[in-house]
Amino acid sequence: MKILVAEDDLTTRSVLKAVLTKWGYDVEAVEDGAEAWACLLREDAPKLAILDWMMPGMDGVEICRGLRAKDDPLPPYIILLTGRGKREDIVEGLHSGANDYILKPFDNEELRARLLVGGRMVELQDKLYQAVEQQKKLALTDSLTGIPNRRAILEHLETELARASRKGSSLWAAVLDVDHFKQVNDRYGHLVGDAVLKECAERIGRSIRRYDSIGRYGGEEFLLVFPRSDGDLEIQALERIREIISEEDFVAAGQRIRITVSLGAVRWNGADTIDEIIRRADDALYLAKKKGRNRIEYFE
Ligand SMILES: [Mg+2]
Repeated sequence: MKILVAEDDLTTRSVLKAVLTKWGYDVEAVEDGAEAWACLLREDAPKLAILDWMMPGMDGVEICRGLRAKDDPLPPYIILLTGRGKREDIVEGLHSGANDYILKPFDNEELRARLLVGGRMVELQDKLYQAVEQQKKLALTDSLTGIPNRRAILEHLETELARASRKGSSLWAAVLDVDHFKQVNDRYGHLVGDAVLKECAERIGRSIRRYDSIGRYGGEEFLLVFPRSDGDLEIQALERIREIISEEDFVAAGQRIRITVSLGAVRWNGADTIDEIIRRADDALYLAKKKGRNRIEYFE
């Protein structure tokens, strides 16, 4: 485990570096508060730190306050090291945001034990953070296709709308529906139906530009968002999506299945709300279905 040692006294710094290295830590030793602060702000900053209280530049307590003010979800575990052992000093040190406090001259075994506690806290904090991030991700992902789910793609559309509004630009949104999907399910079973939806998402995902998005809107319905609108380019992109589904049969459970999709697309007029955009795209989709499917209709 990486550990930062910030201590302006050469002897103490050298002793700390020697014992920590002996205990297996990867030690980064600095001699003033400014260096320590810069080190702790780095992307790959050590998650354990021993900070001297009194140092030139920035003192240990200032560093603790600065770090707590940053509100980092994965803050380092900080042990303040100092000769100031009065009760009010200890209280101030801990109030500043330090996790622990060790008096000089320190006892090696006590320091080691406290570092082990710190290491456990860092690991626990990391596990919790990963678990929360994983949950957040799952809450926004469609479990079948692995693409954003309805909630996520709608949030994305909302973000893009706000951006377009700020920049005075436009965007396209399209609702895509797999034609006669119920027949696929009825004839080949739901597992094949699922495989078809998965492959649809994959084919479309491969064909859109990096900054375009697709999400699963409902059963066999997908929502596409094209920010950075270039007018005709989006029409070509939508045409390509329709083709990439229809031009090659789907193969699932040994069956070759021809799949087509219909799309209803709308270019944002600068005023519509999300609900209105979706309704207009739905109206266009309805028209595409009515006109024979495997086609795109645009809301005028
Ligand atoms: Mg000092």
